[in-house]
Order: sequence, then C-alpha cells, then structure tokens
Amino acid sequence: MTNPCAEPLSLATLLAYWLGELDDDAGQQAEEHFFGCAHCSENLDELATLAGTIRSAFASGVLTTVISAAFLERMKQRGMKLREYPVSPGGRAYCTITAADDAVIARLKAPLADVARLDVLRLDETGNVNARHVDVPFDAAAGEVLICPSALAVRTMPAYCETMRLVIVDATSERVLGDYVFDHQPG
Ligand SMILES: [Zn+2]
Repeated sequence: MTNPCAEPLSLATLLAYWLGELDDDAGQQAEEHFFGCAHCSENLDELATLAGTIRSAFASGVLTTVISAAFLERMKQRGMKLREYPVSPGGRAYCTITAADDAVIARLKAPLADVARLDVLRLDETGNVNARHVDVPFDAAAGEVLICPSALAVRTMPAYCETMRLVIVDATSERVLGDYVFDHQPG
C-alpha cells in the first residue's frame, strides 16, 4: 500500500509526459515528482501498460527528453528495445537507430558530485547552439545524464554530427563540464 499523494499528477499530465508533449519546465516538474512519489510513479506505470498505441505515440514524439535513471529502468522493464551510447567527456559516439530499436539513449558520463544545476546545450557542426535544456535531472551518484531523443526524428535524420555540452551553472558563473559528440548515420 502506497501512501496517497497530496497533489497527484492528473491523467492528462501523465499522458502528456509519457507522450513527450510537456514543455521543458512542466516535463521536469513531472520528472522530479516521479522521483519522490511512488504513488504517481505507479500511476504512470499503469498508464504505460494500457496500450501499445501509447508507446508508439511516444515513439513518434518530436521532443528530446532528459530522463532520470528511474525512468530508463521503467522503459526497460516495459520491454522497450533501447540502443544506449555511453560517452565520456571529450568522447564521441558513432550512433544509429534501426527498425528493431524503440529508442536511443545518450548516456553522458560526468563527475556530478556537488553539482546543483546542470544545463545541456546542443550544438551543430558549426558550433551554433540549437537548444538548451535548463536545470536537467541527473543521477549524481551514477555520474551520468540520460538523454532520449525522439526516435522518429532520429529515424528520419540523414547523417549528421551534433555536440551535447554539459554546463554547470551557479549564481554567478557557468562552467563547461564536457563536450560529447554524436556522429549519426542512418540505420
Ligand atoms: Zn504524487
């Protein structure tokens, strides 16, 4: 028996989260809630087992999501076929996605002890910042940030090269923790 939640996430929020439709702030709030709330995590699990259509909708989302270790475990428990790319700071992954994969996960390894706020920047080959994920969830003990791009978007991408940059942010400054290069080839 789980303690009921004082402010349970609505079904609409759970579904939007599962489909990857929440904006960065709302998605992150939900993520943090799941971390601390077994009740809502169970509701999310139930939702996810409802129908394969939900999973395929997730797979056809367009957002890139920063996910928690707990959520990655849930994806595996649910039987999703994942292609994982662990990369060290300064490292490079040669990545792809095949028809057999439900999702790809970038595992950015980094020393994260004592880090309060971490942002993820995504840069194109010319160094332009195309996106910034602010104050992302991370597992300090495991020393990694988990990033799940839209499988559909990845599937339709031609060969490209993208850099993900981890930046530690505090009240007065920013410090680059590492660059991670993803060299993508179509599956
Ligand atoms: Zn809750």
